[in-house]
Amino acid sequence: MSNETPAISNFIRTVINEDLKSGKREQVITRFPPEPNGYLHIGHAKSICLNFGLATEYNGHCNLRFDDTNPVKEEDEYVEAIQDDVAWLGFDWGGKALFASDYFDQLCEWAIMLIKKGKAYVDSQSAEEMRTNRGTLTEPGINSPYRDRSIEDNLALFEKMKNGDFPDGAQILRAKIDMASPNMNLRDPAMYRILHAHHHRTGDKWCIYPMYDFAHGQEDSIEGVTHSICTLEFEDHRPLYEWFLKELEIFTPQQIEFARLNLSYTVMSKRKLLQLVNEDYVESWDDPRMPTISGMRRRGYPAAAIRQFCDRIGVGRGANWIDLSVLEDCVREQLNETAFRRQAVLNPLKVTITNFDKVEMLEAPNHPQQPGLGSRKLPMSNELWIDRDDFMENPPSPKKYFRLGPEREVRLRNSYIIKCNEYIKDENGEIVELKCSADLDTLGKNPEGRKVKGIIHWVSAQHAQKIPVRIYDRLFDQENPDKAEDYLSALNPESLQVTEALVEPSVLEAQPGETFQFERVGYFTADSKNSQPGEPVFNRAVTLRDTWAKMK
Ligand code: ATP
Ligand code: MG
Repeated sequence: MSNETPAISNFIRTVINEDLKSGKREQVITRFPPEPNGYLHIGHAKSICLNFGLATEYNGHCNLRFDDTNPVKEEDEYVEAIQDDVAWLGFDWGGKALFASDYFDQLCEWAIMLIKKGKAYVDSQSAEEMRTNRGTLTEPGINSPYRDRSIEDNLALFEKMKNGDFPDGAQILRAKIDMASPNMNLRDPAMYRILHAHHHRTGDKWCIYPMYDFAHGQEDSIEGVTHSICTLEFEDHRPLYEWFLKELEIFTPQQIEFARLNLSYTVMSKRKLLQLVNEDYVESWDDPRMPTISGMRRRGYPAAAIRQFCDRIGVGRGANWIDLSVLEDCVREQLNETAFRRQAVLNPLKVTITNFDKVEMLEAPNHPQQPGLGSRKLPMSNELWIDRDDFMENPPSPKKYFRLGPEREVRLRNSYIIKCNEYIKDENGEIVELKCSADLDTLGKNPEGRKVKGIIHWVSAQHAQKIPVRIYDRLFDQENPDKAEDYLSALNPESLQVTEALVEPSVLEAQPGETFQFERVGYFTADSKNSQPGEPVFNRAVTLRDTWAKMK
């Protein structure tokens, strides 16, 4: 991680430092608590980097705990994918992943304990009645007619709930706190609900499930989490978590809230991401256009770039809107350091070198600034492909134009300087071929008496290999898709273009997941799903420059 920016201080560190100094805490235990109801996205990465990062920094530990209290939406597929993603990001939860469902017996005992203390009751109101009686932000709620049931009745009813004697929604266990509290979360919140549903881990053992709010704080407490870091929407839940922990007389972690990440041109709601997958707007959760960790990985974003991004955006409590270009810049910075250079032509124009009649194996460095990364053989012959954009018949400002034109010279990357002596058009007036001569005294050295500034990329026609290339662009073309009447209308119709590239032979050796800089074109990664040995399919990870900045 040597080239990553050093950790910037944030307000969470201040709290931790004070807790360690005052002796309130002796160590730092954090956790990342995803619900396995979807794949992780870049917003989760912020929380992962924060929680695992702090644990590492303070020589502590970070748990990976699945908050699997809602059996209806949770699946093992997500559990697997989440573990893969966290590990790929470079973090270690030290052994076994933990699950809220491992604590279901304990949580149920605690529910009974609260009933016995007179702090919880079984409510038989309908969902509708409960909603009406909850009050509003300005009006207090109304006590349930079942609120004063005896402890014996509550114990018996809860037992019947647990035994499956009631249908879904017929009864609910609530905490007895305060129906007039200005904090809605304290108005006798639900603790346990009836749900006759199969759970991905506990199977059919339970037909009652703890509510997230009755589970989360206790899970942290069981695990000895010293600092429970979560996003701001849980700030109003903190008094509730603390109420449960106090009544249960168990350890109270210090909850600290921070602002969630919002990224332009991106949606992060799991419900929406699931819809994009289910309704085939994208191929899958790991479609390279998705803001998911697995999508970014497949697209070719290095884990180090995501970590660098999370570091760069910092952690605070104010609204956190970040432009997508910040992430793309991190990707470029990382790939620029690590990606091997290769030559590829996406929009070919034929060039014949009139004074070259052999095949020459040139030696081309894998990385111009890092000789240690070695080199590869690059075949040169008398017929080449160059990019169509690198020739202009009449450059508009000839003094600032450094590519090919009539009687102009350029250097072929890693090869000779050539001069265009003639260009041939077809019957439609389109240029179909250039005839050029090479200055054979310019391999690896400058010509005598003149300067040639331009360098263009090329491939030898007889050696060129044709490979499929997917040009990915932003999935949404509106800055805030959530603001559109229907976020689907903000989808970018040009987010995927399938095309082909002519590449130098060594590109075929790409391993799935390997990224090249196709010089002057962009960063391209061999797709991990569709590449076969010797037959890579490339995804454009990112352009060489920010092309969106200009367009706005
Ligand atoms: P939902 O509530 O829509 O299911 P969620 O994004 O809250 O989704 P979780 O699986 O509960 O999903 O999230 C796990 C952790 O990641 C939580 O601690 C949550 O606060 C954090 N997290 C989720 N989205 C972001 C975000 N955009 N920025 C920072 N942290 C996030
Ligand atoms: Mg959540």
